Amino acid sequence: MQAIDQTDTWVLASNNAGKVKEFQHAFEPLGIQVRPMSDWDLPSPAETGLSFIENALIKARHASQATGLPALADDSGLSVDALQGAPGIYSARYAGADATDTDNIEHLLQELKNVDDNNRQARFICALAWVRHAADPVPVIAVGQWHGRILKAPQGEGGFGYDPVFWVPESSCAAAELSKEAKQAVSHRGLALKSLLAELAS
Ligand code: IMP
Repeated sequence: MQAIDQTDTWVLASNNAGKVKEFQHAFEPLGIQVRPMSDWDLPSPAETGLSFIENALIKARHASQATGLPALADDSGLSVDALQGAPGIYSARYAGADATDTDNIEHLLQELKNVDDNNRQARFICALAWVRHAADPVPVIAVGQWHGRILKAPQGEGGFGYDPVFWVPESSCAAAELSKEAKQAVSHRGLALKSLLAELAS
C-alpha cells in the first residue's frame, strides 16, 4: 500500500471538464493538485484492453510516462446482462465511431426490444487506476458498480450517456432524474472514488 504524499501534483488522464472538477474536488482536501491531460497537449493512447481495469491502467501509465507525474485514470461504461456484458468497454461508441448519446441509447433499446422487464438487469462500472510512475508494478485499482435495469424508453433530462434509460430501483427513477449530488453518492464513479481514497489513505 502506498501512502499519499501531501505535496503531490497528479495528472488526470482525461480532458472531460466534469470529471476533472469531480476529481479535483475529491483530492483537494488531501493537498493534492489534479491537472488534466489538456495541460500537456498530448495524444490519447489506444485503449487496447479488454476490460475497464486494463484500459484505465493503459491510460494512467501513458499519462505518467508523458508527464513524469503520478497519474490517475478512469474507464467506465454500461454492462447489460442480457447482452453478455455489452456495450461494456465500447459504451461510448456502441452505435458507431461518432455515435451520440442518443444514437447509443436507440441502439441499446433496439438490441433489447425482445427482452422483457424481468431480464433487463444492467450495471454501470467504473475502474480507477493510479500509478506512482509509468512502470509502477503495484498500481492502485478501485472498481465501483451501480446496479439497475434498462428502461424501455428514455426519461429525465439530467446526467449524460445512458442515464435516461438506466432505472435506479432504490430511488424509483431513472439516473437522468437524480440530482448531481444524489448520483455522485451512489454511482459507480462515486463508489470507485471512495474506494480509491480509502485505499490510498490506508
Ligand atoms: P468514459 O469513461 O467517460 O469514457 O465513458 C464511456 C461511456 O460509458 C460514456 O460515453 C457513456 O456512454 C457511458 N457512461 C459511463 N458512465 C456513465 C454514467 O454515469 N451515466 C451514463 N453513461 C455513462
